[in-house]
Amino acid sequence: MAIENWVGKELETLTAFRRDLHQNPELLYDTVRTAATVAEALRAAGVDEVVEGIGRTGVVGVIHGHSNKSGRMIGLRADMDALPINEATGKPWASKVPGKMHACGHDGHTTMLLGAAKHLAQSRAFDGTVIVIFQPAEEGGAGARAMIEDGLFTRWPCNEVYGMHNRPGMPVGEFTIAPGPIMGSVDEVRITIEGRGGHAAKPNETIDPLPVAATIIQSVQTIASRTIDPMDNAVVSLCTMQAGNAFNVIPQTAEITGTVRALREEVRDQVEARLKSLVENIASGFGATGKVDYIRHYPVTVNHERETDLAAQAAQEVAGVDRVDLEMAPVLGGEDFSFMLNEVPGAMINIGNGPSAGLHHPEYDFDDDVIGWGCSYWTTLVRQRLPAA
Ligand SMILES: [Zn+2]
Ligand SMILES: [Zn+2]
Repeated sequence: MAIENWVGKELETLTAFRRDLHQNPELLYDTVRTAATVAEALRAAGVDEVVEGIGRTGVVGVIHGHSNKSGRMIGLRADMDALPINEATGKPWASKVPGKMHACGHDGHTTMLLGAAKHLAQSRAFDGTVIVIFQPAEEGGAGARAMIEDGLFTRWPCNEVYGMHNRPGMPVGEFTIAPGPIMGSVDEVRITIEGRGGHAAKPNETIDPLPVAATIIQSVQTIASRTIDPMDNAVVSLCTMQAGNAFNVIPQTAEITGTVRALREEVRDQVEARLKSLVENIASGFGATGKVDYIRHYPVTVNHERETDLAAQAAQEVAGVDRVDLEMAPVLGGEDFSFMLNEVPGAMINIGNGPSAGLHHPEYDFDDDVIGWGCSYWTTLVRQRLPAA
């Protein structure tokens, strides 16, 4: 129970690696430098095969154990992309790129998986194959899906896949996980209301889209409160409204955008159907037309039960039974590891990042003290899931 011994001699290098990534953040699929840095480090570590360009800028490393009697393969995944935020940490390793920063700790995720890959390539003390997956575009670009569509799991048919995210507010050296839905689906809603524009002094000759929009905004509040089972979860947040550009002109159209979150696919379907029905019928009641573009971004992140237990066992071996919370409360934020969990059994665990600012905050920073815990979790998980034959 504790950080594994091998981490000690690597910690300085890994910390420098993390801070270099932090200084050079890249967004979405533009993780060109990050991917090249990762690929180079994997090759230098003696990883058997390093494949770049999976899902545009994704990187896959293949590490064979001493033996392969089991024929088993497990995937470990990290994300590499940053966010369009101006960093305000004032740290010596703060972002060198204005308007971009690693505010979700993906620099730390990448570093921890790289550290584990280095150790696994050196020790080889397992039976089977480990695939390390470094994906781009977690923050809204569905990089995980891009890698899957590019043949990730057909080229490397993993038996299990695991992910990890840091959690601010939870002490360093602690983990939390739970089976079932742990993060929400993420959908985008675009509502277009088409009326008839005209002179503001002659509203009777127009179909004013603004009262239609106002009624829609009020009415969608009843979806979560009146339509969805109170024991389920749903959020409908309408966040922008655009209409008109002059004080004396009734505009032709109004546009509303927002997001829908849910923890079950059935609830997601229900919200979509109800939203469309409300918008279309309210608009037609006013003599206008209403249309909903409902764009599905990320599915619900659902941890598989067996693999959740297995991930928890690895975390418990590293951190101790008392420092692994097995009842992680679900949140309605989204995570594109959900696409991988829909293909291959697996689980995502959260690792404590201490009392840092929250994720996506300009003062957030990944705590380098977490690196040792995350590396130890990965290598312990491999030792347990692919025991040496
Ligand atoms: Zn994020
Ligand atoms: Zn993240």
